[in-house]
Amino acid sequence: MKKEMNFTVKGKFASKYKSGYPLISKEAIVKLNDSIEEGTIIRLVDEKNQFIAKGYFGKQNKGFGWVLSRDEKEQIDQEFFKEKLRAAIDYRKPFFNSQDTNAFRVVNGEGDGLGGLTIEYFDGYYLINWYSIGIYKFRELIINALKELVEFKAIYQKKRFDVSGKYIEEDDFVAGERGTFPIIVKENGVNFAVYLNEGAMVGVFLDQREVRKRIRDAYAEGKHILNTFSYTGAFSVFGAVGGAAKTTSVDLANRSMSKTIEQFSVNGLDYEAQDIIVEDVFRYFKYAVKKELTFDMVILDPPSFARSKKMVFSAEKDYKDLLKETIAITKDEGIIVASTNSSAFNMKKFKGFIDQAFKESSRKYQLVEEFSLPKDFKTIKEFPEGSYLKVVFIKKLA
Ligand code: SAH
Repeated sequence: MKKEMNFTVKGKFASKYKSGYPLISKEAIVKLNDSIEEGTIIRLVDEKNQFIAKGYFGKQNKGFGWVLSRDEKEQIDQEFFKEKLRAAIDYRKPFFNSQDTNAFRVVNGEGDGLGGLTIEYFDGYYLINWYSIGIYKFRELIINALKELVEFKAIYQKKRFDVSGKYIEEDDFVAGERGTFPIIVKENGVNFAVYLNEGAMVGVFLDQREVRKRIRDAYAEGKHILNTFSYTGAFSVFGAVGGAAKTTSVDLANRSMSKTIEQFSVNGLDYEAQDIIVEDVFRYFKYAVKKELTFDMVILDPPSFARSKKMVFSAEKDYKDLLKETIAITKDEGIIVASTNSSAFNMKKFKGFIDQAFKESSRKYQLVEEFSLPKDFKTIKEFPEGSYLKVVFIKKLA
């Protein structure tokens, strides 16, 4: 039996938890004891000691654990996890049956009732991300449940226990047969080289699938696309497949050069016809202004927070300025794809940054379309913070 412990929810938060809020946060708990053992089963009770929900204790950047059940009698055992996983897998049936996409998210944390855990599928390989020591304490139950439900080539895992969500370096293999990496997965018919055994990031961020498709199908043809914070160049590849005249990818990390070359190559595209640049985006903007370079489309997908040699970038503080620099090098009638995965602000505030940036640039714009998380990144209305992705296509008017 797992240890159990009562946490008393403060009066004004009780109704929130009763109506389905899943995250156990410090501010909501009377005298939160944060030195208890990770993985302890927590019973949330109200100030009259009435049961509200049960969950587990697991320190994360977001909070102190997650609600797992609202049924006092429910045991958190292998059967419990199996039912959650079964429901999650069912929900992704269209993805499992897809002919042209075999990389998607199978379990999206609290969206699937399993906060602190995500599972992704890459052509027969399953990748589990553990976001706290607390949830990792249930690994045997969860992995066994998964094994009972699906066939797999192998299971890999990433431990992201660090309270800042940082990845702990390991070989990451759990079960099955070790893969030979990269494996080549498909997204809407386009190939991606994916590595499950080298670091936290595997080569592609699946949450941008719909945005990439839209760029390929409706925007890229004949255009010069600047892809900033480009990582492995996933947006550039979709742009090129969509008939872009040229793509320019800019990322600070040295690895981005070979990784981007690889993503073009696994699609039979000539990377030498593209520009792939290792540089700080903010320096590149200055260079572009000096050389009077302009682009038909500029994609902005910065991290929420980044520290480089000279500066600290925070999406919340600096997105507006990033947009202003972008406006300056975007052609009239050109498109800016502004994306952020910051949960520090919502879509309304994001649009406020956009509006402010254009005002301060004395330019007019039109919001063309917007995207949030795709279906496989399931979210729940009780936890709007979980819907972190915001992408807006903006037309710079003449
Ligand atoms: N847009 C990418 C994902 C971006 S991940 C995609 O669709 O796959 C964030 C990337 O920003 C990382 O690759 C990181 O190296 C890069 N980065 C962070 N700060 C940067 C800066 N100042 N200039 C250029 N790249 C930066």
